Amino acid sequence: MSKSAMAIVYHRQPFEEIEVDGRIEFRANSSPNGIVPTLKSLFRRIDPGRGAWVAWKTCDPEAGADFERVVHVDDDNGGFTVSRLPLTAEQVESFYHVTSKEALWPILHSFPQAFQYDNVDWETFREVNRLFAEATAEVLADDGLAWIHDYNLWLVPHYLRQLKPDLRIAFFHHTPFPAADIFNILPWREEIMASLLACDQVGFHIPRYTKNFAEVAQALCGAGIVATEAVSDGLSPCGKALSEPEVPVSLCHRGRLVRLGTTPVGTDPNTIQRLLETPESEALQSRLIREMGGRRLLVAVGRTDYTKGMAESLLAFERLLERRPELIGEVKLLLTSVRAASTMTVYEKTQREIEGLVGRINGRFSRLEWTPVVLYSQAIPFDQLMAHYRIADVCLTTPLRDGLNLVAKEYVAANFGRTGVLVLSEFAGCAVELDDALLINPNSHRSMDRALDRALDMSVDEARRRMNGMNRVVRENDVARWSDRIIQELSLIGA
Ligand code: UDP
Repeated sequence: MSKSAMAIVYHRQPFEEIEVDGRIEFRANSSPNGIVPTLKSLFRRIDPGRGAWVAWKTCDPEAGADFERVVHVDDDNGGFTVSRLPLTAEQVESFYHVTSKEALWPILHSFPQAFQYDNVDWETFREVNRLFAEATAEVLADDGLAWIHDYNLWLVPHYLRQLKPDLRIAFFHHTPFPAADIFNILPWREEIMASLLACDQVGFHIPRYTKNFAEVAQALCGAGIVATEAVSDGLSPCGKALSEPEVPVSLCHRGRLVRLGTTPVGTDPNTIQRLLETPESEALQSRLIREMGGRRLLVAVGRTDYTKGMAESLLAFERLLERRPELIGEVKLLLTSVRAASTMTVYEKTQREIEGLVGRINGRFSRLEWTPVVLYSQAIPFDQLMAHYRIADVCLTTPLRDGLNLVAKEYVAANFGRTGVLVLSEFAGCAVELDDALLINPNSHRSMDRALDRALDMSVDEARRRMNGMNRVVRENDVARWSDRIIQELSLIGA
């Protein structure tokens, strides 16, 4: 088998395994995770069959790790192979649930109070990252490109560079990258940074994260900034003024050039449009409109995670009903807080908090014929979710911190030609692009309350102007453009 030209190294498999009549079938992921479809679409940009994906699969050592190690996928992204790294449940628990989610995730999202490291077994984190590096080195041609994703795999570049020094190595962060004073809380900071600086290219969603990374690299590792660039060229094709006009584009560390990329991921507005025009979607939209009976619908959509600000949205909705009793019976909030697949205390606590608030608000304000909040804990399938976005009058996207937030962009894409209002946290990465949203600070009651009032009282003309402005941005900075820019950035490696 010929070696691959590009390997996407991401901890999740790009499909779900379903057992049908005793046979395993591989189906597209149904989980609410925005990254996988976007990454798969990158394989369309390389020769068919020359792409590889490296992921983990939990296995039972007693059962002898008996599964297909390499799966060939043939979908509309072109053929690619998936190499599956067997990890034991203990390794997954330690590397993913404890180290990644309890220690690294809170720091990345600037939640130092949630940082827990007593249970971290750094040796296992190292070991799993080394195994990923070995699996990647095995599938790639010597001059191939390893494109590694997310903080779970922060140490892979280090091991990969040792195994194949001439490989082209790129890394993309789908999360925020915090300011130096937060990042430096990590006891493993030097090791993480040394690994990232072994890459040829390191990518982020927005200028602030790139700047934060460059500052840490300078202060901790003595890296030098080689060049900066005005971001208004690259990031705001609609000519919007951006708050961060200069961003570093390359660093120099130990004689190696490390390029920095700033590329916010996009949605696929054409696909969303097509999904909305199917007879099934149109029927669903009509049914939802009928069921709303002239009331106004607010939606808030995301995974159950303390960073997503769902409790803040609920509290703002409760204050709205207190402040404006005339809205009782006239507005409804649909909140999807999709439970994490695995049980983790921190997410269970968040889920309980959300359920408690929903119960309280419904207990306080419900009437026989009307319930103010509807909570879904299971993911709504993507096509149906788009129909909900399309008919919703307001989308509340209020994360306390979020790398980008695709929900906000999808809501805008689904509201093409409509007058829905997006209330958006300034701490979501996409706020840099979507400055026609009602930008709020989710930590401030006053800011949230004012935005909800404005959203519900906004004139049709203003709502249309804002939605048109955001649609221009979302259509121009779509996923195809993200892919073009990424391919362009990756092609500069070694040039
Ligand atoms: N999503 C979904 N069904 C749901 C909730 C979410 O399909 O019930 C999708 C949503 O449309 C989006 C993704 O899950 O594409 C979440 O991506 P986002 O960037 O907003 O957040 P993340 O979960 O990656 O932090």
